[in-house]
Amino acid sequence: MDHRLVSTILALLLSLSQAHELVDLGSEDEIQIEDPDDLDITTRILQSNNGSSEMLMEGDLVISNTRNAMNCWNKQCLWRKSSNGLVEVPYTVSHTFSYYAKKRIENAMKTFKTETCIRFVPRSSQIDFISIENRDGCYSFLGRTGGKQIVSLARYGCVYHGIIQHELKHALGFYHEHTRSDRDQYVKINWENVAPNTIYNFQTQDTNNLNTPYDYTSIMHYGRTAFSTNGMDTITPIPNPNQSIGQRANLSRGDILRIKKLYSCWRELLNDYRCRTAGAEDKVIDQDIIAKRSAEKIKPHYNERNLYVTV
Ligand SMILES: [Zn+2]
Repeated sequence: MDHRLVSTILALLLSLSQAHELVDLGSEDEIQIEDPDDLDITTRILQSNNGSSEMLMEGDLVISNTRNAMNCWNKQCLWRKSSNGLVEVPYTVSHTFSYYAKKRIENAMKTFKTETCIRFVPRSSQIDFISIENRDGCYSFLGRTGGKQIVSLARYGCVYHGIIQHELKHALGFYHEHTRSDRDQYVKINWENVAPNTIYNFQTQDTNNLNTPYDYTSIMHYGRTAFSTNGMDTITPIPNPNQSIGQRANLSRGDILRIKKLYSCWRELLNDYRCRTAGAEDKVIDQDIIAKRSAEKIKPHYNERNLYVTV
């Protein structure tokens, strides 16, 4: 064989193998589950959404015919509960996500299954569903809108465990923690540091706080420099200014409790109560159930089949 032809073939094979290595490196990079430590969830979401074509409220909520999801009339903006006590949220995932990105999304969804009565299920023919798409930013609608509703997780910037959970919680009907109706007792907004055109992101909402305490550790709480015009704090916890906020690692115990309460996950709420009374210190239990059970004004009736309880 001609020497130059052999050299050409060898060079071609070498370049192909290098190209293959590059593809593999990209995939391995995506396997990395841990998020970089240098950015909090707020910064990461806001950076990803910078330049998004969507009209976004509070950085990552799509403005539509906005209603207050947590106080919506007749629970029309919540996902429906089946007779088995489970709340199914049908979903589709865009084929443009890589295998590893899809795995991350599925893993984030599983945490809701482990802890609550929410079940994200692949859509078959359901009318209402979330469509997880690789668009220009991390954002979601608030609560169930009816029909197809997009949850955007830009492939580069949003496919992190905590951000996926954060956007899914919006789709379940939760606002940001720092816009809770009672937030002024727990955080101080430093208006002088807020970029003037972003002031609306700090308006309190008429939220149903579900008789749960304000949660600095919520995955729905923004970081202290969100929408800052000068790098200084826009949100300062009170009375302890050093209280950490803006975590993006996982749902907090308070986040999980609020999901259970909003969706009346009675089996899980009562199970927490039983575990706690049996000595499980890590169980955060619903104050309403404690009060009602201790007062014995209403005796809970717990039916294993229908998961119905009168509290
Ligand atoms: Zn958000």
